[in-house]
Amino acid sequence: MMENRSATDIFRLLADDTRVDILRAVAVAQYELGQVGSGPAELSFSEIYDHVEVENTSKLSYHLGELTGTYLRKSDDGYSLSHAGERIVRFILSGNYEQPESFGPQPVDGVCVFCGEDALEASLSHQFFRIDCTACGQQVTGQPITPAQVKTRDADTLVQSAKLRSAEDARQIRRGMCPECGAHLSADVVEMPGSPLPDADSFVVTSTCEECLREYNSPLTYSVVYHPASIAFHWDRGVDMTTRGIWEFHEYIYEGRWTSEQTASDPDEYEVVLRHGDDAVRLHLDSTATVVRTERVRRESGVFRSS
Ligand SMILES: [Zn+2]
Ligand SMILES: [Zn+2]
Repeated sequence: MMENRSATDIFRLLADDTRVDILRAVAVAQYELGQVGSGPAELSFSEIYDHVEVENTSKLSYHLGELTGTYLRKSDDGYSLSHAGERIVRFILSGNYEQPESFGPQPVDGVCVFCGEDALEASLSHQFFRIDCTACGQQVTGQPITPAQVKTRDADTLVQSAKLRSAEDARQIRRGMCPECGAHLSADVVEMPGSPLPDADSFVVTSTCEECLREYNSPLTYSVVYHPASIAFHWDRGVDMTTRGIWEFHEYIYEGRWTSEQTASDPDEYEVVLRHGDDAVRLHLDSTATVVRTERVRRESGVFRSS
């Protein structure tokens, strides 16, 4: 076992061209070997020596020794990337430390959650993918985006990728997993009385990662959109929720078709109703925004009843 190194020690290890070249060479060689189904290849000392410009074998031996334990793993069969090595080398290869190319403004489907106008535009701002309403001037959504995500796509497929990323993240967050680091998330529901959102949705779910300190916020209604009960309910009505972007849900809130309310306190319980025509799916949530029960309901004489 290696002793725990400090963050400065870990980054100091990379302040050396040869070591960065070694990590890159391991990733490239693993890729070229391309062993399908058998996991990443382990590279021998001589295979790495063939791929890296280094004066002699003792220099290589020294650098490998420095990287092993943090960025490389060593077994009887050779060297492979550790978790940290994977993260760093993918980060370097993808160029995600570069400035993303510019993008937009690009008109996108959906309506503004604040004014209801169909006037949304996507653009990049400070490396964030954001959507603004050109009618009322407010920002309606924003999410992180990577430079590689921008570099490898045209405008339309970039917007698609932003939808996909937000849907995938939301799914993990709802199940209590941090999309950034994989740690457990703890969630709380908070009421936002002064929220600029319409009255229909004044509750926000705050999920916090105590490991990497990322915080994720979502209106309570949106937090259940990718629950299987919601996906199935909408799928039965010709709507594939899994391909929708967050901003495409705004019209449901704006029109009051999606609502949330608190139904009990100590312990707190909540109810979210997602309506579609005369049908609705009702989801009951506990104080940590976990869905505990779902039912489909139908409007009869103006009132929704279990169907
Ligand atoms: Zn607006
Ligand atoms: Zn995390």
